[in-house]
Amino acid sequence: MFGLPTDWELDVPERYFTLEDYEGGTARWCPGCGDLAVLTAVQRICRDEQLPPEKTVCVSGIGCSSRFPHYMKTYGFHGLHGRPLPVACGIKSRRPDLHVFVATGDGDCCSIGAGHWVHAVRYNMNMVVMLFDNAVYGLTKNQTSPTSPIGLSTNTHPKGAWLPPINPAATTLGFANVSFVAQTVDWHAAHLYSVLRAAYHHRGFSFVRILQRCPTYTAGVFDELQKDPSRLLLLTGGDNPELEPDVLRGFPQRQAHDTRDLVAARNLADQDEPLPVGVLFRDPSRPCYEEFTNAGLDLTAADRLKALERELDKFAV
Ligand code: SF4
Ligand code: MG
Repeated sequence: MFGLPTDWELDVPERYFTLEDYEGGTARWCPGCGDLAVLTAVQRICRDEQLPPEKTVCVSGIGCSSRFPHYMKTYGFHGLHGRPLPVACGIKSRRPDLHVFVATGDGDCCSIGAGHWVHAVRYNMNMVVMLFDNAVYGLTKNQTSPTSPIGLSTNTHPKGAWLPPINPAATTLGFANVSFVAQTVDWHAAHLYSVLRAAYHHRGFSFVRILQRCPTYTAGVFDELQKDPSRLLLLTGGDNPELEPDVLRGFPQRQAHDTRDLVAARNLADQDEPLPVGVLFRDPSRPCYEEFTNAGLDLTAADRLKALERELDKFAV
């Protein structure tokens, strides 16, 4: 036709997803909120991994960051305060084929949801868990959270928070069957993206603590870390993502780290100055509870009925 050779065809995948395919409602976070950077990173990961939107689920609890599922054009579940992890585990146990991203905050995960946090880490089901840590309850307008630093003035502690904060990464590294823990910051887009993508590729429960700026209530908390890049310690080596030279230049302080070494990971996680960023720990050999919950998912309805009757017959007298 038109003198063009016709014995060729473009190698185009049947479906190609662009960023727009993952963009949900207009984000209603405050201007400058770090949540926006995380949303962008996750949308880019979905695009780069070509995750079908109908095979992707974002789950959240309650809090500013928990509005996340509304802003993704995927399936979503905006749950109850502190409960995103049991919901996400339930989804994975019945639909292991879905890609699950969990958005939870420091209040949501480390306070009311703390019990679920312990057990979800132990279940080690395959999902990416993003802890948006802004060191405050933002949605309910400025109350001390479990990660508020000592001295932070909030509505509940106007004279300053006085209990030592929980360290989410160090705490997670203390739970049984932990398999992936990383730490990053919202203001380093390339690092944030690379760490979250590494978390996505890990088979198991990938816990990523993200230091997230809240210009409305905790404007000064991460100021010094942001202004002085030498206060961050970039972890390299092991299962840390390879970064481009121009990204590396943004981290004057670097340290090689064996991501299989749990003791070294715990020591690093306890360190505030400089604050380690990157993958702290990864053990892909840890058992995943899906291996157990997946059993029987492929049974036909008739087989399931037979199995149920067999079980009920055990109670016959
Ligand atoms: Fe973001 Fe803070 Fe505003 Fe919440 S209150 S949307 S965390 S800046
Ligand atoms: Mg918070």
